Amino acid sequence: MEVSQRAPGRWQLATVLSVKAETPRVKSFRLDLPMWMPHLPGQHYDVRLTAPDGYQAQRSYSVASSPLDRGEIELTIDRLADGEVSPYFHDVVEQGDQVEVRGPFASYFVWRGEDPALLIGGGSGVVPLMAMLRHRRRSMPELEMRLVYSVRSAEDVIYADELGDDATLTFTRAAPEGWGGHTGRIDGEVIAAALAGSPTAFICGSNGFVEAASRLLLAAGCDRTAIRTERFGPTG
Ligand SMILES: Cc1cc2nc3c(=O)[nH]c(=O)nc-3n(C[C@H](O)[C@H](O)[C@H](O)COP(=O)(O)OP(=O)(O)OC[C@H]3O[C@@H](n4cnc5c(N)ncnc54)[C@H](O)[C@@H]3O)c2cc1C
Repeated sequence: MEVSQRAPGRWQLATVLSVKAETPRVKSFRLDLPMWMPHLPGQHYDVRLTAPDGYQAQRSYSVASSPLDRGEIELTIDRLADGEVSPYFHDVVEQGDQVEVRGPFASYFVWRGEDPALLIGGGSGVVPLMAMLRHRRRSMPELEMRLVYSVRSAEDVIYADELGDDATLTFTRAAPEGWGGHTGRIDGEVIAAALAGSPTAFICGSNGFVEAASRLLLAAGCDRTAIRTERFGPTG
């Protein structure tokens, strides 16, 4: 009997099962993987595009789905106007298309069931945190896990229909009408309200966001060794 290789380093051709518009700039892609293997929430896949002339571009995208979704993964991609790979996904990739991926990768920025866990995301930095939240809801709903999510405005909220009591939002540019919650950047007050016990903290976003959130957690007395960070891009 032939045994298919499931080593994460192997490139494989995934088929796009569905495309969902999350916000005007963000789409989620559900992919069917011929060599699927379970990931840990927080891990990412590499995606590789090849042009007809052989030119290749490769980028990393976090898995947004729970590993309980066997055989498939969800990637959520923010469209950067002057980008190479993210506009291709937004403007070209459709249901039924095939894309080359390999993974899952990363052993550091992963949630292994730590309790309590505090998740802090800025913009598309919420993607790997959503995998943690989704997986915890389905596998260990009794565990203490809170998401603090910073977005510019209401139309930028990714996974809006899935955010419940375990999520605290803050709007940095424009809050929706009648909003009674926090506005502006994440500050010490937001962190203090979200802290429960001594959490393992996961911070994901731009460099500037990760730096600022890490400083706030340290100032609030969190242990440096309990803070795990993932940086998506060069700008703040
Ligand atoms: C481990 C890891 C996981 C990631 N997961 C996700 C994810 O789940 N969803 C997602 O949308 N992105 C994610 N990213 C970012 C992603 O890999 C790409 O960097 C991003 O999509 C831009 O690629 P591009 O080819 O479109 O733009 P590029 O052609 O690489 O860059 C275009 C311009 O945008 C700037 N830029 C590049 N990346 C960013 C960024 N993230 N934010 C702001 N400006 C940037 C560049 O400096 C350049 O000026 C992740 C990155 C890492 C390292």
